[in-house]
Amino acid sequence: MIVMKFGGTSVEDAKSMRTVIEIVRKEKAQTPIVVLSAISGATNTLLKSAKTAQEGKLEEAILLLNGLFDRHVTVMENLIDNRQTVQQLIASFKQRFEELRNLCRGIAILGELTNRSLDAIASVGELLSSQILAEAIRSQGLSAQWVDARTFMKTDSQFASAVPQFELIDCKAKEILSPLIAAGTVIVTQGFIGSNDKGTTTTLGRGGSDYSASIIGAALDADEIQIWTDVDGVLTADPRIAPGAQKLRMISFREAAELAYFGAKVLHPSTIFPAVKKDIPVVVLNSKRPENSGTRIVSHPPKTNIPVKSIACKRGITVVNVQSLRMLMAYGFLESIFSVFNKYQTPVDLVSTSEVAVSLTIDTTVTLDKIIAELSEFAEVSILEHQGIICVVGDQMRSTAGVADQIFNALKEVNLVMITQGASEINMSLVIDETQVDEAVRRLHKQFFESIPDTDLFEPVGGK
Ligand code: ADP
Ligand code: ASP
Ligand code: MG
Repeated sequence: MIVMKFGGTSVEDAKSMRTVIEIVRKEKAQTPIVVLSAISGATNTLLKSAKTAQEGKLEEAILLLNGLFDRHVTVMENLIDNRQTVQQLIASFKQRFEELRNLCRGIAILGELTNRSLDAIASVGELLSSQILAEAIRSQGLSAQWVDARTFMKTDSQFASAVPQFELIDCKAKEILSPLIAAGTVIVTQGFIGSNDKGTTTTLGRGGSDYSASIIGAALDADEIQIWTDVDGVLTADPRIAPGAQKLRMISFREAAELAYFGAKVLHPSTIFPAVKKDIPVVVLNSKRPENSGTRIVSHPPKTNIPVKSIACKRGITVVNVQSLRMLMAYGFLESIFSVFNKYQTPVDLVSTSEVAVSLTIDTTVTLDKIIAELSEFAEVSILEHQGIICVVGDQMRSTAGVADQIFNALKEVNLVMITQGASEINMSLVIDETQVDEAVRRLHKQFFESIPDTDLFEPVGGK
């Protein structure tokens, strides 16, 4: 059994959905579980309609929803020939959109928008796209079953970034999905969405469909977890920033986890963990060019002598500098700093210490004021906003001399705010001003990949 996750651009219109059906049909013998994202842009539109309603612009919010309804109708009309099926789908979508309009009316009246309401609204995108695809697969004569992911993707109640309850999911997935797999039915379900113990809709956070796919794959001991997207695989950098980026044929779980965590959007940051637990290969593939072999992410890829494999980056980082001459060398100082971040559930990404200060990076600032207030009770605190992290990744970095030199050489003219060697020693991360991130990535890419070594590891984008 394999899991096949298709992202938003892979189901953006009828033509793309048709391609998806062909890809799924070819894998029929492996009884695929198809995990779907919303059609591209749908989640953004849904969230925007909720925010517009909260601002009191109900009519505008409803116009956004109407536009989204029309887009879905266009997709199904161009995809499914059977008129009766289309009419039934339209009737059910009308009901869903009426519910959405009611939610927006409530939000507009209260002027209040909770993460719980945001999840209720955002989840509809995946429900709609998956319903269309399931009907389309069926109308092409394949046996397919639409399954509501909320029946098995059980999570806690942290709306907008819910934490999966793995044991429960294992149980429910086996109970609900295994009989369908045994019957050779293609399962079509949603990524991104789940439900808490009361059955209320939750989501795993933006981009969470990749994570859903690997959770499902791990729960059912899949042979492979396929992530179908709009690029050939995991590349040496984001091709939108470095147009010369090349595809990596194979990388390790650890490398992929670091890249995803530090901003390589091609994988949700948590995707790798469930796969690692069961040692299931994750394969990133391009739905626009299904013949391409993609990138295989495995526990132990063959060793290469290539130190740097890829460069990731993220923006919107805040650096918190904590200084206390009195306490720096004192026992428990770091613990007291981290306990403040823990208390406010704010993950710290990078840490660097000097003789007189500790610098940390965070990417969510919701509770920053409270954090500063508590830290200020025992230390001096200063904040640097609008920073970016660049992360250079490769599992041979630790055993290759001169990589840091090359990094600093490429970034001679860039002011480095923080430098950290990852604990895993397979990455080096740099904090720089947000506005310099793109240029820095391009320079590093040029430094490490301008003359790509002659090895099987890399492949030009667009190759076989
Ligand atoms: P999907 O909708 O299929 O989930 P995403 O937009 O979430 O797709 O992720 C794919 C995008 O990730 C690519 O279009 C690319 O711009 C971006 N990306 C960032 N870093 C990388 C990388 N190292 N390799 C490949 N793609 C990357
Ligand atoms: N549709 C959701 C989003 O846009 C989840 C996903 O596509 O992975 O964030
Ligand atoms: Mg994505």
